[in-house]
Amino acid sequence: MKESLGTTGLILNEPLLWEKGKKGRQGFSVPRRDVPRAALDAGLAGEGPDFPDLSEVDVIRHYTRLSQWNFGVDTGMYPLGSCTMKYNPKTNERQAGLRGFAEAHPLLPPELAQGALRMMFDLERFLAEITGMDAVSLQPAAGAHGELAGMLIIHAYHKSRGKTPSKIIIPDTAHGTNPASAALCGFRSVPVKSNDQGILSADDVAKVMDEDTAGIMVTNPNTLGLFEENIRKISDIVHAKGGLLYCDGANMNALMGIADMGKSGVDVLHLNLHKTFSTPHGGGGPGAGPVCVVNHLEPFLPVPRVIEKNGTYLLSEDFPQSAGKMHSFYGNFGVMIKAYSYILSMGSLLKKASQLAVLNANYIKASLKDVFHLPYDRACMHECVFSDKDQEAQKVTTLDMAKRLMDYGFHPPTIYFPLVVHGALMIEPTETESKENLDLFIETMKVIAEEAKTDPLLLHNAPSKPKVRRLDETAAARHPCLAG
Ligand SMILES: *Cc1c(COP(=O)(O)O)cnc(C)c1O
Repeated sequence: MKESLGTTGLILNEPLLWEKGKKGRQGFSVPRRDVPRAALDAGLAGEGPDFPDLSEVDVIRHYTRLSQWNFGVDTGMYPLGSCTMKYNPKTNERQAGLRGFAEAHPLLPPELAQGALRMMFDLERFLAEITGMDAVSLQPAAGAHGELAGMLIIHAYHKSRGKTPSKIIIPDTAHGTNPASAALCGFRSVPVKSNDQGILSADDVAKVMDEDTAGIMVTNPNTLGLFEENIRKISDIVHAKGGLLYCDGANMNALMGIADMGKSGVDVLHLNLHKTFSTPHGGGGPGAGPVCVVNHLEPFLPVPRVIEKNGTYLLSEDFPQSAGKMHSFYGNFGVMIKAYSYILSMGSLLKKASQLAVLNANYIKASLKDVFHLPYDRACMHECVFSDKDQEAQKVTTLDMAKRLMDYGFHPPTIYFPLVVHGALMIEPTETESKENLDLFIETMKVIAEEAKTDPLLLHNAPSKPKVRRLDETAAARHPCLAG
């Protein structure tokens, strides 16, 4: 097996700076003193923090090494499902860093911010075009925040018609944030099971849809990486009872320029710019979860909205039925610039990107389905979901295999999600991985499946190469040790 990834070699050990310090060592030199020595202020003398004495080289190497202990899409393949960890071209970061954008104050009067306003106006049009929706607000700061905005819009719509339905239908293949967003908006979620094909059947939705139901939240492609083929029929059923169809479009990386969401009956949809449109996902950085609607829901979009009047761009609060404000100012502006720049530089290639993302996922699915249990054996979209069922006899679990992947230099895929698959391994390769990278990943997964048979202990003890082995993940999250 080839070990060609940069992450497998040269593992550095790094003590704390306090352990490295040597009394009297320093990182600077100053000219010889030509004035009499004077004591420091009494308040300061001898009472400073106990910093170690270090040379410049000590400090530089320490922090540079620590900075290399990260794994990211710039380091290697990161097949984390439901996350679209694709490579984000650096040129888009550069456009976001242009002084005119980066230093624009959010309180600039509109006449001095025409470029920024026009960028937002155009980006809204682009996103409407890509999704097949009519109007967009860029305000929400994340996917789940876009869902909340969508729920508030649905609530405002029903209220405008004198109704306050209490429930919302959520399939078992929806993303976990969906029921949380619905609950935050005061809706009670009504679960509906996907069928043996891994998608929703219209009959099952019809059974639970009634007039006290505000609508349905469908993740499409769903968390099994499958396209909800009955979406049009489902929308008819929901609309007939006065409800609305919300689509979680965080997985738009599979569908850009391919599926027209408006035509499939979707009323409200959110996107994750920090997945599909050139901002890295994860790491807690800023994101953007624009919410897109069809024409008749436009009055309910968050305010302020960017509008155009006789060639001038303005911010308007004049939408009395608006669901309200979702974010300070207009949302996370820097993320919008990256999306704008990405869309302009890609043009019609966006469609190709989606096609390649789908092709790559299907290539992995087809190459590994003889080695790992594939619960839904049908064409997938941008990701595929396996389980650890075939390794059960050896008592090797999904967690063991995910940890072992780290020894081979890969970030593990998403594990134990979606919940509908026991011991799920959810792999999303994205369009930015070459065939060689995919082949290396596939070969590695095959080696791991073989190890599960011949040497399960190796997997139980994995990872053996990274700095830290198996962490108590609950304790690590609840009582993080930040000292080193
Ligand atoms: C990532 C994701 C979300 C949540 O997005 P955040 O920005 O992390 O809040 C919602 N739905 C789906 C399908 C996702 O993949």
